[in-house]
Amino acid sequence: ARLFSGLEPRPSDPLLGLMTAFRADPRDAKLDLGVGVYKDEHGKTPVMRAIKAAETRLLADQDSKRYLGGDGDIRFVELLEPIVFGDALGDPARRIGIQTPGGTGALRLGAELIARARPNATVWTGDPTWPNHTPILRAAGLTVASHPFYDPRARTIRFDEMMLALGKAAPGDVVLLHGCCHNPTGADLSIEQWDAVIERIAERDLVAFIDLAYQGLGDGLDADAAGLRKAWSALPEVLLAYSCDKNFGVYRERTGAMWGRFADADTAAIARGNILALARTLWSMPPDHGAAAVRIVLDDPELAADWRTELSAMCERLGGLRQALASADPRLAYLAEQRGMFALLPVDKTGVHAMRDAHGIYMTDGGRINVAGLGIDDVAPFVDALRPHLA
Ligand code: PMP
Repeated sequence: ARLFSGLEPRPSDPLLGLMTAFRADPRDAKLDLGVGVYKDEHGKTPVMRAIKAAETRLLADQDSKRYLGGDGDIRFVELLEPIVFGDALGDPARRIGIQTPGGTGALRLGAELIARARPNATVWTGDPTWPNHTPILRAAGLTVASHPFYDPRARTIRFDEMMLALGKAAPGDVVLLHGCCHNPTGADLSIEQWDAVIERIAERDLVAFIDLAYQGLGDGLDADAAGLRKAWSALPEVLLAYSCDKNFGVYRERTGAMWGRFADADTAAIARGNILALARTLWSMPPDHGAAAVRIVLDDPELAADWRTELSAMCERLGGLRQALASADPRLAYLAEQRGMFALLPVDKTGVHAMRDAHGIYMTDGGRINVAGLGIDDVAPFVDALRPHLA
């Protein structure tokens, strides 16, 4: 038998199907609320100004493309640290940071490290979570369990149930938490809820694995990292998967980093060797371009300030859209309390398909929208189309 005739067919990615259907739709007034990239008021995802300037410099100044090494662009990692960790940075001897191919690479690397340290560890993820979390964790051989996280009908976090489930996790289990701008729900833990979760993690002897993919797109750079910083300061062991792909708008450049905080310097040194060995089998060395551009931006006060300005404007646009949606119908009032690019609408699959057929509005079957897919003038017609299907 041929080797590859043994392959099982795989279901196609629903999001890719949605993109294809959107492109094929001839209607002018169609709206793509599916794909998870930031869009401006005109539906464009431009290269951010500071990144464009950095790329121009990079093209002019880069005199070699020789290998940098397994941890990638070290200066990129160092320059991100104050932005990510603020005052919570802590003892450098207990911290390892390494450049990764996007947040996805960081998640996979973290998962592999957990699997090396404790092959039978269970990772707890919220229901729902980013659909790629479970496959990434499983690909590393880990067991994935889920705890209740969000009730789309009630439009609230199922916090008591989440805490109850974490109370039953076994010592050494890992809890995967979204740092901010939860994907797909937009529902973030309040700071009091972070405190309670961190306390539960500490008392149950669990490990926090935090996924921060949207820093600066919720309530600003510092506020969006507040939960992470609390965990980083309070817990002996934390992993962070970080993505620059949204907040620097460099999606296809695959730009991210993974940090680990370890119980002591000796453990950190051994972990570092393991992390580099794992990275070597996964991608050997991370792609350079995105990290180099981010490094140039953060290393130049003017470019860094311009990046912050543009990021704030993106964040404010998302907040404005959320306010407009919330004011348009009382059943959408909850959207103003949530953050980031994504929202889960209380519409069922039938409603989602009806909106697609009648109005050319594209969203995933689960009712997730990318808020940034709307222009401010789209809000009223969008809510009109949505109203008959709202629970
Ligand atoms: N985590 C979450 C929650 C995400 O939404 C995404 C991107 N969709 C990622 C991680 C991965 O980001 P990247 O494109 O940098 O791999």
